Amino acid sequence: MTSRITRITFMASSLIIASFLTACGDKKPTSTTDTITPTPSVEISTPKTTAETKAITEAVTEESTTHTVANTIDTSDIFSGYATQKIADHTYVIHGPTEIPNPKNKGFMNNPGFIITDKSVIVIDPGSSRQIGQALLARIKEVTSNPITHVFATHVHGDHWLGNHAIKNAYPKAAFYAHPNMIEKANNGEADMWIKNMHALTEGATEGTKAIIPNQESTHESSKTVDNMTIKTHFIEKAHSNTDIMLEIVEDKVLFTGDNITYTRLPRMRDGTFKGNIAAADYALTLNIKHVVPGHGPSGGKEILQSYRNYLSTVYENTKILMEEDLEPFEMKAQIVKKLANYKDWSGFEEQIGKHIGLAALEIEADF
Ligand SMILES: [Zn+2]
Repeated sequence: MTSRITRITFMASSLIIASFLTACGDKKPTSTTDTITPTPSVEISTPKTTAETKAITEAVTEESTTHTVANTIDTSDIFSGYATQKIADHTYVIHGPTEIPNPKNKGFMNNPGFIITDKSVIVIDPGSSRQIGQALLARIKEVTSNPITHVFATHVHGDHWLGNHAIKNAYPKAAFYAHPNMIEKANNGEADMWIKNMHALTEGATEGTKAIIPNQESTHESSKTVDNMTIKTHFIEKAHSNTDIMLEIVEDKVLFTGDNITYTRLPRMRDGTFKGNIAAADYALTLNIKHVVPGHGPSGGKEILQSYRNYLSTVYENTKILMEEDLEPFEMKAQIVKKLANYKDWSGFEEQIGKHIGLAALEIEADF
């Protein structure tokens, strides 16, 4: 058993190192073959021309009295081709690419969201960089002149929250929220790691981004009322990263899942556990919600929760069965892949599946 654990540990360690630079998935964007049809979203804004968006971005930048970093990178085309979509009465999402950060997407790969209240704007996951945050500010300005007062980060992975920098510059009084585990991890080196990682992967497109680490704690079952809207936080231990909160927009029946749930893209799992993540999906399925915004990929209804849950449990349960037959992770891969026909076109599948089986095997070993 010891040599078996050593072999699996070595394999997983190698995979982790290999996965570091390709932090979040496969390079090729693909569409899903899954039969689930996402809830149609109302498109309220077609992408602006480069010149129009640039003008808005610059206007927002000039308004900032505390803007201290010169914007040397053109941010005008970051959201080009990615519309602002209204998914519920007060809730808007820009569904980003599902590929990993690269020079072309400038690090944009997540689903920044915003909720417009009577007087304010609440932002969720403003993206990978100051530049992406600026592009988001421009999009919000197209819909409302309300100020941004609250910003939530779903978890510590930098593709979700480094855009805080632009919001802090434009709205210095805004409050930044995250789970205490996220705040602790970000302050203990993860923020710096993600800044460097994003800069390297995008070949400098995130230049000048500074980590505005949240300092307001958002804990399990806490609620924040902002004007006429309520944001309820849900935290399940050791899910995608052990820093993850899922954010329920109560009045709109919307759930932002962060990377506890993804759709048409497989995220990395090295910071989480399969059992915890499956529990988080099961928990989310019990909530009184209609709309699900995954960490990556298109929004839809509760079927999105079920789809990713099925992926996780298929990997976990089959790894367990094959370990009992004394197979090594690399020997299991072909058999498990066969059972994942609905997911094989998901972005990141080829790159992540071997890693996921290795990590599931480690988790199962640790449970014995
Ligand atoms: Zn993540």
